[in-house]
This record gives sequence, C-alpha cells and structure tokens, in this order.
Amino acid sequence: MLGAGQLGRMLALAGYPLGLRFQFVDPSADSPAGEVAPLLEADYTSSAALDALATCDVVTYEFENVPVLAVQALERSVPVHPGLRALAVSQDRLLEKRCFRELGIPTAPFFDVASQAELDRALVQTGFPAVLKTRRLGYDGKGQRVLRAASDVAPAFRELGGVPLLLEGFVAFERELSLLAVRGRTGETAFYPLAENHHADGILRLSLAPAPNVTQELTAAAERYGRALLDHLGYFGVLALELFEAKGSLYANEIAPRVHNSGHHTIEGSRTSQFENHLRAVVGLPLGSTEPVGPAAMLNCIGSMPDARAVLAVPDAHLHDYGKVPRDGRKLGHVTLRASDARTLAERLALLRPKIWPGSS
Ligand code: AMP
Repeated sequence: MLGAGQLGRMLALAGYPLGLRFQFVDPSADSPAGEVAPLLEADYTSSAALDALATCDVVTYEFENVPVLAVQALERSVPVHPGLRALAVSQDRLLEKRCFRELGIPTAPFFDVASQAELDRALVQTGFPAVLKTRRLGYDGKGQRVLRAASDVAPAFRELGGVPLLLEGFVAFERELSLLAVRGRTGETAFYPLAENHHADGILRLSLAPAPNVTQELTAAAERYGRALLDHLGYFGVLALELFEAKGSLYANEIAPRVHNSGHHTIEGSRTSQFENHLRAVVGLPLGSTEPVGPAAMLNCIGSMPDARAVLAVPDAHLHDYGKVPRDGRKLGHVTLRASDARTLAERLALLRPKIWPGSS
C-alpha cells in the first residue's frame, strides 16, 4: 500500500480477518498504519519502495497524490488498483471536471486559467461569486479562494497563481453529499447510501448516513454517475464521489480514488465496511453487502482527542484513535455513533457533540 495514514491503518485492520498481509510505504516515519503493519519509510518513487511493493500480489493506495511515476513503474511488475487512469484524473481538477462533462455528469461551469487575463475572461462567464482553485494538490479546502467581488480577483490570483488554476462557477448548494461506490474485479458494483457531510474550515466534521431526506430520484442519479465513472475509469476498488445538492439536482465536485472520510461510519454502520469492500475488490474477492445496519453519524476528532470514557459512555458510540501526534487542524480520530432510529440518533448526537467538540451544542 502506498501511503500509511489512518486510511491505510483502517484498511489493514479490515484485511487481517480475510487473511491478507500488508506492506506499507510512506515517506513519513510517523504513520498510523506503521503501528499495525510493516512500514517502509521511503519516497514512493525510490527503488527501495518499488522493489518492496513489486513482491506483493497487488498494490493499492490510500492517498490520491502518490506520484503517477511510481504507479507506472509498479504496473510493470504488479497489478495496481485503482489504475493509473483514475489516479491521473483525480490528481487534476481540470481532467476531473472534463471527465464529468464527458460522462454527462452535471458539474459547476469551469474554465482552465493560466493568466490573469484568462481569469478575467472566465469571470465574465461565471459572474460572482466564483471559486478559484489550483488544478493540483488541493485538499480540505486548501488551494482555493472564493471570489465574491472584483476586488478579490488580483489578490487571489497573486496568492494561488504561478501554478495552473481552474475557475468554477459557485454552486449555491443546500447540502454536500457523497457517494461511495465499489467495483470488484469481476465487474460487480455496489453503492453505499448517500452520506450528508458537514464541514468547518474546509475540513469534514460530521457525516450523517444514510443522508436524511434523500429521494429515490436523487439516489438513482448519484448511482448513475457513480456507475458511469467506475465503468469509464475501468475501476477496481472504492471510489468516492463528492456532490452538491441544489434545488433537487446533484452537481459533482470531485472524486477520490480511495476509501473516504465520509465512509468511516461503514465500519460499524454497514454490513461490510468500505475498507473491507475496497480490499475485497482489489484482491478479487466477492463484494460484501453495502446495506446500512441503521442510521449512523461520524464525528471527526480534529486537533485533539476527546476523553475516551466520556465518549464511550454514550450508547453505541465507537471510538477510533489513529495514534497520531496532536496538531491544530489534524484529523486524529473519529467516533461513529449508531442507533436503531433517527430520533435516538439525534438524542445521542446531542450528548456526544460537546464531548468531541467542546463549545458546540
Ligand atoms: P474541494 O477542495 O473542491 O473539495 O472544495 C472544498 C469545499 O469548498 C467544498 O466542500 C465546498 O464546500 C466548497 N466548494 C468547492 N467548490 C465549490 C463550488 N464550485 N461552489 C460552491 N462551493 C464550492
């Protein structure tokens, strides 16, 4: 596995019962997966890393910014899933948006921007507000600025410019949703119910799954988009599709070619977790049921971990501590909360929130 963060750690923990064994590679020694599986501390493109992984039966990754060069080199000796096409598309917001357009998946209007003059021209098309993003290496809201007025344009271009950019029209969405889709080596596909995601400071804080008040039409549209992407990308594994809902329609924002934070609730909240299903898919085992076992919420622990006793005193709360060194804005763990019905979930959520996010109600 390329990358040994918390996603890798949860993948390994899901894989051991299936009899799988893991070798992780990560340039950082302080990597959560290193506590549960062998970790080689090395650059992804180093010969040490490539040699170690070439002895495996299959290679996957937990992070979409692994160098395409590393995957190209590995593919000569070992199957890598998801494949290069999905990796390359998800690394570049322009390719990603073009892929959505090609597949008939609605998305915000978008423009490739290489200069301030091109930005000015694109803004004539989008109007204000609009969102200026770096094409590559953006995550958790980093590498982007919302342009609300003409006076925002030059400073934003100065801050982000120098690298290829993308200007997007602003989607006045009512909520953010995500679809986790999985396709196995035999071509069988499955979808988890849509999750509703809430962010603060660009970082996911809370997911509700299944998302409340989702119509059959919305689910059908999301699954149609998910299936189109899986087929087009020749995809094996879990794929996350982030969506905006506006006036009853869905607009695709981005994809992640991996397991996703908005799917962590599936460990306790679904018949088969996203982690297990990703592994089943990439090693060629039949997929497990993606059915929810009841309504669930997932709360991220950001910057500090809550008191375990307080969290676990809430019925059906499940704590996951990634063993990371605390730092402001860092995802250190999460809690999944379950209940048999939506009302009980809401009551438990009200109890749990202040224990994880002091000051929140
Ligand atoms: P991203 O890095 O693309 O996931 O964007 C981070 C967050 O910025 C999203 O979760 C949205 O809340 C917001 N955002 C991104 N693109 C747009 C857009 N075109 N219109 C409105 N909000 C956006």
